Amino acid sequence: MAESVELPSRLAILPFRNKVLLPGAIIRIRCTSASSVKLVEQELWQKEEKGLIGVLPVRDAAETTSVGSALSPGMGTESGERSPKVRVSTSDSQKVDGINQQELIHWHKRGVAARALHLSRGVEKPSGRVTYIVVLEGLCRFSVQELSARGTYYVARISRLDMTKAELDQAEQDPDLIALSRQFKATAMELISVLEQKQKTIGRTKALLETLPVHRLADIFVASFEISFEEQLSMLDSVDLKIRLAKAMELVDRHLQSIRVAEKITQKVEGQLSKSQKEFLLRQQMRAIKEELGDNDDDEDDVAALERKMQSAGMPPNVWKQAQRELRRLRKMQPQQPGYSSSRVYLELLADLPWQNASEECELDLRAAKERLDSDHYGLVKVKQRIIEYLAVRKLKPDARGPILCFVGPPGVGKTSLASSIAAALGRKFVRISLGGVKDEADIRGHRRTYIGSMPGRLIEGLKRVAVCNPVMLLDEVDKTGSDIRGDPASALLEVLDPEQNKTFNDHYLNVPFDLSKVIFVATANRVQPIAPPLLDRMEVIELPGYTPEEKLKIAMQHLIPRVLDQHGLSSEFLQIPEDMVKLVIQRYTREAGVRNVERNLAALARAAAVRVAEQEQTVPLSKGVHQMATPLMDARLADGGAEVDMEVIPIGVNNHEISNAFKSTSALIVDEAMLEKVLGPPKFDDREAAERVATPGVTVGLVWTSFGGEVQFVEAAAMVGKGDLHLTGQLGDVIKESAQIALTWVRARAADLKLATAGEINLLEGRDIHIHFPAGAVPKDGPSAGVTLVTSLVSLFTQQRVRADTAMTGEMTLRGLVLPVGGIKDKILAAHRYGIKRVILPERNLKDLVEVPSAVRNCMEIVLVKRVEDVLEQAFEGGCPWKQRAKL
Ligand code: ADP
Repeated sequence: MAESVELPSRLAILPFRNKVLLPGAIIRIRCTSASSVKLVEQELWQKEEKGLIGVLPVRDAAETTSVGSALSPGMGTESGERSPKVRVSTSDSQKVDGINQQELIHWHKRGVAARALHLSRGVEKPSGRVTYIVVLEGLCRFSVQELSARGTYYVARISRLDMTKAELDQAEQDPDLIALSRQFKATAMELISVLEQKQKTIGRTKALLETLPVHRLADIFVASFEISFEEQLSMLDSVDLKIRLAKAMELVDRHLQSIRVAEKITQKVEGQLSKSQKEFLLRQQMRAIKEELGDNDDDEDDVAALERKMQSAGMPPNVWKQAQRELRRLRKMQPQQPGYSSSRVYLELLADLPWQNASEECELDLRAAKERLDSDHYGLVKVKQRIIEYLAVRKLKPDARGPILCFVGPPGVGKTSLASSIAAALGRKFVRISLGGVKDEADIRGHRRTYIGSMPGRLIEGLKRVAVCNPVMLLDEVDKTGSDIRGDPASALLEVLDPEQNKTFNDHYLNVPFDLSKVIFVATANRVQPIAPPLLDRMEVIELPGYTPEEKLKIAMQHLIPRVLDQHGLSSEFLQIPEDMVKLVIQRYTREAGVRNVERNLAALARAAAVRVAEQEQTVPLSKGVHQMATPLMDARLADGGAEVDMEVIPIGVNNHEISNAFKSTSALIVDEAMLEKVLGPPKFDDREAAERVATPGVTVGLVWTSFGGEVQFVEAAAMVGKGDLHLTGQLGDVIKESAQIALTWVRARAADLKLATAGEINLLEGRDIHIHFPAGAVPKDGPSAGVTLVTSLVSLFTQQRVRADTAMTGEMTLRGLVLPVGGIKDKILAAHRYGIKRVILPERNLKDLVEVPSAVRNCMEIVLVKRVEDVLEQAFEGGCPWKQRAKL
């Protein structure tokens, strides 16, 4: 312990340049200069027990450099003691030893006695000079009384400055010192705990704090800080304990503060860094996501672009105001906010709607319009005439509130294409809105924007699509709208079609009025009956009945085939469909009022031809010789069930151009029966169906009218053991069920007259049930026109006589046996004609309707007009009704 060290009166002095060794500190010095080597050798190395030397701080006069090394206690940094001769540049003396330079050195008056803890000797390699490495521990302060040279180094007469143990014990009783030392310890402890967080190896210092006396601690702590030379000197000079503690405390506190400030700064920097790094990372991610979505535009730019679009949309002032309000709302919202996208979609719609954008209506040329209608459609003379009248009125009075045209007829008769021809004749755009199955009023008028997933109605949507405010708008299938709890679409349509109201049509989603008055509406329907009467009232119905086979043939030859070929990139050079084959397509593969299936089948033929033509085209450039080239075609033709191949032999050696020309001219594919079967499959229909189906008693051919036009309807009746019940199947409506009841009653009432039963057993249903079925079972049926057919079926069943297979019938019957007229005569006769039926029994009062039937059909059919059910029976059975004579009907 330093307190117990006995200091000699003289000590060899090792100069410590610009550094201070404080008591308690340990330093490591490398001694290389001659004087210091000598000192170490004589004072430490050669002595048996480890001796003491004095370490005295010196300051260069010029303050150029330091002597020795700055070593922290316990640290082993090695630094050479610089030779004095290096520094003495101004000396005239040739001696380079330290002593001769003493006038250049400011010796400090106080130093610290030090003990060598460790000594090691070494030899510098090339010069052979001896050097020492000394580890010194500072022990206690002394003051220099006198400095004198001993050989090459100095020796000083000294007096001890630090107190002895006894003195210390006494001094420590001083309350001021006690308070000070407590304070110092607290500050030191604080510093240690701060340091502890940073480095875990602080344990040793902590232990020292607990064991060492405070005044020594002060030296040790200060020695470990990097403080200026002056501060170190003043610490060395603080012999008084209180002063020393105060100074040390100041230094420790300063160090603590500087650590804290440094920490704060690091934290701040780190925090900022991590925050900005986080932001950077997120932004990068956002960019990546946007890029992935192909959505690179900035939101701000987007809104600005939207506003520009809105400005150029030409909205009326009241709409513009509303749009502005909504835009302001949008600007305040974040894109992630709920409601942003819905608001945006709404504004996009406002900007997209054709508020003023109209297609320029050219001066209507009626003759050109007529030509156009004629070139697009075969026949339909009356319909075309009515359309021309309509257009003529529009020409004379463009804003006339004429009726809305409504084309009514079975599918595929040209309703849609007529409407689009009207648009073309007027030079307007055409948009079709399908109303089939619309039950919700919101489909027409839109949902209010308060609903999630709300959207505008079909009309506004259609206008957005067509992008002009004056298109021809086709309201397709107006008869297919139904009403339920969600509202009545028909009433919404009323508003649309009413010229008084549609100037300010209010779509719920749009919530601003839109002017529909410039739109030309045309409607289509399959049947008139289901159309709501007020709606029907606003429309002018133009009926388009089905086509006769001859008309279909003409339509197919003149319109459908050229169109289909064109659609498939073909021409008659490649594919020819002879008239006979088209007839077969109509007879065997279709049985419809319109021509849609005919068109579909022709398209199938064209597709098959297209494959072959495409194959051939591939082959031509590849072929080197005629044989190779001919092969694929030959194969293709042969594949058609062995149809004869009509190939022209091309001489070898002609150039490619000629080959392909020759190839083209010979390769027109002519459709034949074999190809029909290959492409379209086996025939679907033939004329024998009716005969086969009525081969058993109880089956009759009826004629009905459906939304697909006229149809042939077989009615089947069967009897079985039972309790006299009537069973009806085939999805029948109330009217048809009642007809069945009437028919049965009539037959039962006339059973005896009809010789169906003897007078004794008058009850026809005694012990049996009757079942009447209307195939096809999945199709709903209703209407009164099956009355006569039902009676005939029942009579046929009871008499076990077959009905004539070539006869079909229609007519409502009364309970008294009168036959009443029915509707759709033309369609029904056409349907019978399609089935190959030659005789049709009709109510007499339908005679007037026969003029509508095309003469070609009428001429090849026998029309039998009847007044009473007995007449029907007379005509329906082979050889007439055999019971008539005896019957008192
Ligand atoms: P609809 O709307 O009545 O169901 P479309 O107008 O769609 O029927 O007609 C079906 C196809 O039949 C269309 O390609 C149409 O051009 C054609 N078509 C119908 N009637 C005729 C006709 N009289 N002349 C020429 N093509 C017709």
